[in-house]
Amino acid sequence: MDEFALIDRFFANRQVDRADVKLGIGDDAAVTSVDADYDLVIATDSIVEGTHFPAGTAPRSLGYRCLAVNLSDLAAMGSEPLWCTLALSLPSAEPEWLEAFADGFFELAERFDVALLGGDTVTGPMAMTVTVHGRVRAGKYVGRSGAGPGQGIYITGRSGEAGAGLQILTGLPVDDVESGDRLIGRFLYPNPRVQEGQAIASIATAMIDISDGLHDDILKLLRASQLGADLDVSKLPLSPDLLACFSPQNALDLALTGGDDYELCFTVPPENEAGVERLIASSDCPITRIGETRSQLDVRWMHDGQPYTVPENSFRHF
Ligand code: ADP
Ligand code: MG
Repeated sequence: MDEFALIDRFFANRQVDRADVKLGIGDDAAVTSVDADYDLVIATDSIVEGTHFPAGTAPRSLGYRCLAVNLSDLAAMGSEPLWCTLALSLPSAEPEWLEAFADGFFELAERFDVALLGGDTVTGPMAMTVTVHGRVRAGKYVGRSGAGPGQGIYITGRSGEAGAGLQILTGLPVDDVESGDRLIGRFLYPNPRVQEGQAIASIATAMIDISDGLHDDILKLLRASQLGADLDVSKLPLSPDLLACFSPQNALDLALTGGDDYELCFTVPPENEAGVERLIASSDCPITRIGETRSQLDVRWMHDGQPYTVPENSFRHF
């Protein structure tokens, strides 16, 4: 199949229709209209075989994940996704593989109404690069550097599951096979917090997605905001599946350093903390307060009142 037939069959013909796309796949470039009341928010992330996923990962998951990891970055800015482009490097063009890849990709694109505007397809080692475009009301993005002292630190969802799933996917045996399969599912099909990110943006001062692990990503947010923090790791919600497959200690360390979670971590000033309660009441996404920022730059990790040493990224396979 030549390249044009391939792009037509698997990508151009499955488009998400959006009124703001004036020209989509098929020309030298795409054209969209831009609303004057908004700022554009742009992010790019690649996933590469052997670095971000093991060889042999299901193509449907790769299609889903290469978009999910990017939507998570848009969510972490508090923005609404609009469009994306896809650069695909593949050792060979196998129709069955491409079909499953496109199924995963468009499942997520349709869920969040994101139009694929174009891309590039080349022969090479297996890798996917997606660029996403989103929008926020002019001036209303939420970056990493806006936190102030004495503000609550919150996370969405439960961390650790995806990192655990990757370990199981790459060969770690577990007794509870059903829990293990659900953990693998959390790695293969992460749920980017697109709606939550936009809702949180109205009350948060800073936000980051925790794709590199909660511990490392909290430190990035704090460094950007030039703050320290008190954090209580005993507050971290651990999933039943995680606890079914790992000791409480290993589950906690995965929640802190496992990575690939795509949850959001954000800071809220005292006057907006009631807004968090309202968010929790109106959404099915758990939100947990795990600590507080402080003006002294040190970051104190505590566990039930005792200092806690977070291990080095001991669980990282890649
Ligand atoms: P050009 O050589 O002009 O860059 P290409 O042959 O690379 O054109 O691409 C033809 C059209 O197909 C372009 O509109 C491009 O955006 C689109 N396209 C190529 N690869 C992909 C892909 N993986 N996903 C979506 N659109 C793609
Ligand atoms: Mg091209």
